[in-house]
Amino acid sequence: MGIIGAGPAGLVAAHVLLRSGIDCCVVERNTREQVEQRARAGLREHRVADYLRGHGLPCGRSTSGAADFVCEDQRIRVSYRELSGGFTRWVHPQQLLVRDLLTALDTVDRSPRFGCAALAISAPLERPVIECADLDLACDFVLACDGSGGPSARLFAAAGLPPATRRHRCDWLTVLADVERPVDGAVYALHRDGFAGLMPRAGTTARLYLQIPAGGPLESWRERDIRDRFARRMGTTAPLLPALREIAEVGVVRMRSSSLPVARLGKLLVAGDAAHLLTPTGAKGMNLAIADAADAAHSLISWYHHGDPGDLAGYSARRVEDARLTQEFSGWMLDLLHVPSGPEVLSGKRETIESIAVPGPAGEAFAHRYAGSGAGADNRV
Ligand code: FAD
Repeated sequence: MGIIGAGPAGLVAAHVLLRSGIDCCVVERNTREQVEQRARAGLREHRVADYLRGHGLPCGRSTSGAADFVCEDQRIRVSYRELSGGFTRWVHPQQLLVRDLLTALDTVDRSPRFGCAALAISAPLERPVIECADLDLACDFVLACDGSGGPSARLFAAAGLPPATRRHRCDWLTVLADVERPVDGAVYALHRDGFAGLMPRAGTTARLYLQIPAGGPLESWRERDIRDRFARRMGTTAPLLPALREIAEVGVVRMRSSSLPVARLGKLLVAGDAAHLLTPTGAKGMNLAIADAADAAHSLISWYHHGDPGDLAGYSARRVEDARLTQEFSGWMLDLLHVPSGPEVLSGKRETIESIAVPGPAGEAFAHRYAGSGAGADNRV
């Protein structure tokens, strides 16, 4: 069994497979240090936290279960924990999960092969081979968790199965910053200049987002501009938030989404960002990547241990459907948060936010999807 990529998807699958006695080898193009230091996601869904805990992995801290929306300077609290009957999100940065998973693989002597880039995957229908510069890895199955633009994407495109892609009209400036006290829940501010967001991360680290015009260069953003725009868009809520101290990292997320039409080609399964790219609006990408990995691992366990091909046969349909529903939710949030212009647009959005902040079908549906409450059958996420 071969796995490409030591991100959350590849490492969760390896961990679950190895715990059930199925040997696997992970190849990763980057160094261990690079993989361990890649700070991206931080918010874990309820279903994913439960699943990982069940597999002996820490889940960080639980949030109080509320998100704040700021619209036309009015702060509206959405207590999704209450609205969903007790489901909440957890704060645990992606790089800490990756470190925990690597430590777990070290203890069973199955650390990934770092600095080993998969160049191609051949014969996916019969006996797939992961071709690297220094070795060819012949496998029963390959699980491609190689993020966006890796060799699995090229293989699906060559097989006439390219992803459906969408480029959105805005990008997000993304900032890792130290703040004066830990942030509890996410804050989403809708302002006529554009969206601003504040997301919890470990300790006093937080992630800030600012909506910016699509395609603009990163270099034009000075620290003072970032601080000013963030404070202006948060409006009267800004003084209530933990004060911004040092800015550690600034980047741009090019807002695009994509999804493959299938998640399996013969003996090649694909999981995570390699199968579907989400915008960070709903904080769902890593969660969906782990749900894919868990499904792939349990389908393979049924096959190896019980000779049962049923789960593998349904893998693609289940993952494509989960991705469709998740992208639908992320897209809905993107439409809500992005502000074209004009006060009338904002008041329409305020009404939507008010409708999800109170008990009723809209509030409950939002709360369940935001928290990620859906526990799956058969030990899947
Ligand atoms: P990746 O993490 O991209 O891992 C893929 C791995 O494959 C990498 O280590 C890469 O080096 C390796 N690889 C690639 N090509 C090859 C090759 N040819 N050979 C060998 N190895 C290869 N998601 C959330 O759920 N919640 C959040 O709060 C959240 N916040 C985010 C904030 C930002 C700023 C960004 C950018 C993303 C955020 N996400 C969030 C999304 C999340 O980070 C991704 O969805 C997640 O990393 C996907 O995991 P993965 O394992 O599929 O892919």
